[in-house]
Amino acid sequence: MNLQASTLSLAHKASDRMHVCRLCSASLRHTFVDLGMSPPCESFVSREQLDGVEPYYPLHAFVCEECLLVQLGEYISPQAIFEEYAYFSSYSTSWVEHAKNYCQQMAEQLHLDQKSLVVELASNDGYLLQHFIPMNIPALGIEPAANVARVAIEKGVATRIKFFGKTYAGQLATEGLLADLIVGNNVLAQVPDLNDFVAGMVVLLKPEGVITLEFPHLEKLISQGQFDTIYHEHFSYFSLLTIEHLAKKHQLKVIDVEELVTHGGSLRVHLAHVTSARPIQKSVTHIREQEVKAGLEQISTYTAFTHRARKVKRDLLSFLIAAKSAGKTICGYGAPGKGNTLLNYCGIGPDFLDFTVDRNPYKHGRYTPGMHISIEPVEAIDRIKPDYILILPWNLKDEIIKQMHHVREWGAKFIVPIPGVEVIDPRGDEL
Ligand SMILES: [Zn+2]
Repeated sequence: MNLQASTLSLAHKASDRMHVCRLCSASLRHTFVDLGMSPPCESFVSREQLDGVEPYYPLHAFVCEECLLVQLGEYISPQAIFEEYAYFSSYSTSWVEHAKNYCQQMAEQLHLDQKSLVVELASNDGYLLQHFIPMNIPALGIEPAANVARVAIEKGVATRIKFFGKTYAGQLATEGLLADLIVGNNVLAQVPDLNDFVAGMVVLLKPEGVITLEFPHLEKLISQGQFDTIYHEHFSYFSLLTIEHLAKKHQLKVIDVEELVTHGGSLRVHLAHVTSARPIQKSVTHIREQEVKAGLEQISTYTAFTHRARKVKRDLLSFLIAAKSAGKTICGYGAPGKGNTLLNYCGIGPDFLDFTVDRNPYKHGRYTPGMHISIEPVEAIDRIKPDYILILPWNLKDEIIKQMHHVREWGAKFIVPIPGVEVIDPRGDEL
């Protein structure tokens, strides 16, 4: 086979695979939203890389009509994303606090003690499991990214550097390691082989054990127009309805659901074996009814989402074009993954934003993927004194506006893009 023919055959295979649901294997016939071609959103570009080639992949999300899972194709290998992960959970103080409260709540609820075992999948730098150590509750982290796992080990959190799945769960079970509690915070979205991952949790879980999973709630993504939370590193987007499909397939049951404010609105679902004596709480019916009322059982609710994303794009560009035509200066605040989806989809480059700022020093001196907007320390805003500041991590807008309140001294205003374009004047009045 010549090179061209083999490339074509590979491309054909890839597209076949992309159009099959990763949960139930049904054909994917409905587009949720197609955000065009985009570079991986965590691949920040150094000055030396500016003249090089940057890989772009489709950012096309589908919805499965059978199990209602919203999903992207696996365009990038998980190994490429996760082996050297730049995100250290402990950088976020509010996230560490959230984790601490969770640990206390679960230790009490499940009566965990020195004979119990808690396992966290994608345990990052030990931001969560560290809270079980002073309670004398044994904890084990499984983390594929070696650099963050090493930080956890240095902190005294037992951690295995492994990709989790059914095979590895079997090995742990052979070692006599079975869990009373399995924790998966914001990991389910990043798992390419969803069924193998869940099958692994079933193997690892004691008969009366509990699994808790946290993930951004698809219902909020849809109702709040959060299309920018779609990026290559997140393969799947879940509702409770889909989690119930997933649970049923693996002989699990959803016993409780909590609504959380994290990441623009998340769910924490509690699962147990179907054979477990644990009762199903009222919260499950309540959230399920809420999703049905929001239209999540109907495909038309999902296919209508494209219009929402396009409207934000038009409104944001209209505002930025008018501001630039009036001679205003604009910068960004933050360089989160979601910001890069927004910037690339809308085509907002240095022609609109002079620069953006971020509190993470790793990003300073680098450029946003695709659009190549330079990332500066936060102090750059005080030096340049822009007229407008576009807040990219809109889920933190209240915190950011409070921290940056002093920009009112020169009359600067904030632009919040999601759920719809909103201009906020820190001197008091919303415009
Ligand atoms: Zn499906």
